[in-house]
Amino acid sequence: YPSLSKLLVVSTVGGGSLLAFSDDRPFQTVLNDAGQKPECKKKKVVVLGTGWAATSFLKNLKSDSYEVQVVSPRNYFAFTPLLPSVTSGTVEARSVVEPIRNIVRKRGYQIDFMEAECLKIDASKKILHCKSAQVTNLGGKGEFIMDYDILIIAVGAQVNTFNTPGVSEYAHFLKEVEDAQKLRNTVIDCFERASLPSVSDEERKRILHFVVVGGGPVGVEFAAELHDIVVQDISKLYPSVSNLAKITLLEAGDHILNMYDKRISQFAETKFQRDGIDLKTGSMVTKVSEKDVSTKDRATGQCSTLPYGLVVWSTGIAPRPVILDFMKQIGQGSRRVLATDEWLRVEGCDNVYALGDCATINQRKVMEDISAIFGQAKTNDTGHLNKQEFREVIGDITERYPQVELYLKKSKVKNMVALLDNYEGEIDIEKFEKALSEVDTQMKNLPATAQVAAQQGEYLAKCFNRMEKCEMYPEGPRRFRTSGQHRFHPFRYKHFGQFAPLGGEQTAAQLPGDWVSIGHSTQWLWYSVYASKLVSWRTRMLVVSDWFRRYTFGRDTSRI
Ligand code: FAD
Repeated sequence: YPSLSKLLVVSTVGGGSLLAFSDDRPFQTVLNDAGQKPECKKKKVVVLGTGWAATSFLKNLKSDSYEVQVVSPRNYFAFTPLLPSVTSGTVEARSVVEPIRNIVRKRGYQIDFMEAECLKIDASKKILHCKSAQVTNLGGKGEFIMDYDILIIAVGAQVNTFNTPGVSEYAHFLKEVEDAQKLRNTVIDCFERASLPSVSDEERKRILHFVVVGGGPVGVEFAAELHDIVVQDISKLYPSVSNLAKITLLEAGDHILNMYDKRISQFAETKFQRDGIDLKTGSMVTKVSEKDVSTKDRATGQCSTLPYGLVVWSTGIAPRPVILDFMKQIGQGSRRVLATDEWLRVEGCDNVYALGDCATINQRKVMEDISAIFGQAKTNDTGHLNKQEFREVIGDITERYPQVELYLKKSKVKNMVALLDNYEGEIDIEKFEKALSEVDTQMKNLPATAQVAAQQGEYLAKCFNRMEKCEMYPEGPRRFRTSGQHRFHPFRYKHFGQFAPLGGEQTAAQLPGDWVSIGHSTQWLWYSVYASKLVSWRTRMLVVSDWFRRYTFGRDTSRI
């Protein structure tokens, strides 16, 4: 076949979609029979990713108005909250994933999916440089370029190693389905190796020492799952070595689960100590080598080394290289995360949206604007606002930033609203500013969770569904007509609470209104919430039958 590697594959779905594979040249625009560029009637929306944010967007989008192309190296959606259960075999890997084509087919519309990774976003030319995951079949480097009218970036994040030496080489991660499968096999591998007669006692102890770095929800849940499998299954199947197994959890802060209510954090610490999990708080990992982890105590500065058989690194997330590169291009190089406004539009770009773990809403900018409004109001006065002036400032702020109202009503700053309602004299500016800074703290810490990503995807899809109508009737409904206002409400996050499974059929839950529930009954709540949140009836049935299988026959410890 003549030069297969230079084969140009062109798809003109919807009349305007262009895609070509070439070994080294960018693709060329394909002209129609009349020698012109095909006219694109629908706007071409390219979605990067098939995770929580992207899938939620696709599930809620009425695609008729758009030509949608999805690009992701994974052709499936993964239900990440159940990944720790995959590491122990409580749930099978295939039970927590759903093909993305299945998800969108059920919505009754056609989207194009390309199993490829976006390597570079060129927002000035509105093109994407991508690399196919199927390079071997195509020959060449498998690279191609595609254009877009609107880009939705939902590529998630990668594990943050904090450049700690040896982490990338020797530590395991728990971020993707493959990581969970690898961990499951490696745990069993450790027990098989430790059972060999040729292994010395000291080596056996090392092999069966499991070190988890990071006391956040993922690290804690993995440690709990590991403890469960050792106590409930390994002890029966590897009786000669199971008592040598040791789990150590290293956390640099003073407490594990420090983003949860104190009661949950304390309960988890006490439970882990009771279970024999060695909890070392205030302990920073400085280096990971082939067989040991070096740590430094934050308080005393004392250094020590822990020989290990398996080390799992779970200390948070960092932007992916493609995002870092994009941030540099658009003048956000000095930021740690890609910034969007409250409508999820990337600052400094046209028609580019970013959602989920790869971006954060730039609340700082909102707060600067609020301060500016406030600053204007307080010029020419002596440090106090009368009630009328204060009411005007608050009115101005909440009209421009409706989400601020939501935060003002939250417990920490409700005094400010109370001030407005009850105060008969003048308003103390200092108190007001203090309250504003509390609003600031609350607003900038939107957590990197599936809950946030899914809500953002749904919000953006709903905006897109109404976009056409808004363009057709620019006057819009009365409430949006005020000049200078965006036609949609900004994104508002609704927190529905969070779970922390702690093993032994016990879970902690922090529900809205700071309501805390811990124990076996909460584990049942966890089962029902997660079963209901699964993306399809197929995965729901698979996961529930996995739970039932585990309960009846125990976990499968085959190393496949
Ligand atoms: P992801 O879901 O990570 O999706 C990113 C997508 O982008 C993937 O499809 C990926 O293949 C694709 N992609 C990556 N690079 C590229 C590229 N260059 N080009 C194109 N596509 C690309 N959150 C909760 O709220 N509750 C929980 O209980 C919970 N448990 C968790 C347990 C674990 C083990 C983990 C790892 C996370 C957990 N989270 C939980 C966090 C949650 O999974 C994330 O916040 C969520 O996945 C973020 O969604 P996202 O769409 O931004 O990214």
